[in-house]
Amino acid sequence: MDIAIIGSGYVGLVSGACLSEFGHNVVCMDTDASKINKLNSGISTIYEPGLDELIKKNLAAGRLKFTTDYKSAVTVSSVVFIAVGTPPGDDGSADLRFIESAAASIAEHINEYKVIVNKSTVPVGTGARVRKIITSVLQQRDDSFSFDVVSNPEFLREGAAVKDFMHPDRIIIGSESSVASSIMEEIYRVLYINNHPFVFTNIETAELIKYASNAFLSVKISFINEISRLCEMVGADVQQVSHGMGLDNRISKYFLHAGPGYGGSCFPKDTVALSKIGDEFGVEMSIVRSAIQANDSQKKHISLKLKKVLGNPADKIVAVLGLSFKPDTDDVRESPAISIVNDLVSMGASVRVYDPIAMDNARLYGLQGKHIIYCNDEYHAANGCDALMLITEWNQFRSLDVPRVAHNMRGNIFFDCRNVYSRTSWERYGFIYIGVGR
Ligand code: NAD
Repeated sequence: MDIAIIGSGYVGLVSGACLSEFGHNVVCMDTDASKINKLNSGISTIYEPGLDELIKKNLAAGRLKFTTDYKSAVTVSSVVFIAVGTPPGDDGSADLRFIESAAASIAEHINEYKVIVNKSTVPVGTGARVRKIITSVLQQRDDSFSFDVVSNPEFLREGAAVKDFMHPDRIIIGSESSVASSIMEEIYRVLYINNHPFVFTNIETAELIKYASNAFLSVKISFINEISRLCEMVGADVQQVSHGMGLDNRISKYFLHAGPGYGGSCFPKDTVALSKIGDEFGVEMSIVRSAIQANDSQKKHISLKLKKVLGNPADKIVAVLGLSFKPDTDDVRESPAISIVNDLVSMGASVRVYDPIAMDNARLYGLQGKHIIYCNDEYHAANGCDALMLITEWNQFRSLDVPRVAHNMRGNIFFDCRNVYSRTSWERYGFIYIGVGR
């Protein structure tokens, strides 16, 4: 199958590389020429385990190509995926500018029947909007090529994106055309024969499944974070509460880890966008709204907890380990670490930061200033600091040499925002250990 992917970011690039690995001929297109140049030389533009190898292998095999040119991508392809960003607009609802622009550009180059697949996370009704835009451009061109629009939302998790794409829990296909549905089945044939579940729905249902899934997971995280705050007040341990809850199959152990609040490029924007969709259709999304509020207050709670034990943060030095929103990714969008560092700086502290992969992105994201010092490693970050915070649980932070950290620091506060360590493993070296909900 000849496939074009419009938008070669986290989702587009992973999807393109994996689909070429399935044996399809894939052209990944992006308007960002610097990204495409880098990709054409076989270098991944994002950090994602396993992705580099897939890109190099399929580029060499001639199954994967990269371009900035819509025409060459669209004309040769029978299926065109849209994987551009859908960032929050001013009021929090999804900004569809990039989707609309991509749909119009695709329509300029339709030269035969095509399936246009929305992989971006989009509000209900976007499939219909894409159809309308393409129809209108074709009319202006005085052409009447037929096409179908399909919704195929993506559920990959950054940090495990290649694995998730190759072994998905489910493939959702929203389609009103049996021809388009069988083409989608053919694209994912490898997964179909391996018995990965396929769910065929109408377009609106597929669009909503994505938002409902992300919102539900966000609710779960906010729920356990609220419970963790109650644990702190009543002397319970949230790790054990989560364990005890998660053993119930109806609840499951996943997404029950208390921490500094959810972040990333999806949950924060998708929860707000879903509540806006509710507003538009007159349905109060009260649970989702509460999850958003609880998440905001969890982030504040973390900074306040540190302030309580640190005293006045002015003139204090805090080391922060981990800047990406989760381990194994370079993505810092809406990372709790970024908002905590900014909070600390606004309270007058100096912050020494270290992340194994995400420091360049953090700088680009605006985490800069004379009170933010980028360090060479975790022990360098600890040098002369009053408190050390572990915010993103990269593997290399899971077995810190505590005596070495103690030797480098001038203070003795360790804030384990991910509950990675036992209290005693730090207290035995004279540290004040702070966890979340324990
Ligand atoms: P991203 O910002 O990493 O990538 C988007 C890419 O689209 C960028 O490279 C940009 O240059 C390109 N682009 C923008 N307008 C374009 C246009 N008109 N033509 C061609 N290229 C254009 O975004 P992402 O994280 O990959 O997310 C893409 C979509 O997938 C979003 O809707 C997101 O919500 C959804 N999604 C993301 C994830 C994730 O983990 N990142 C997971 C599932 C779904």
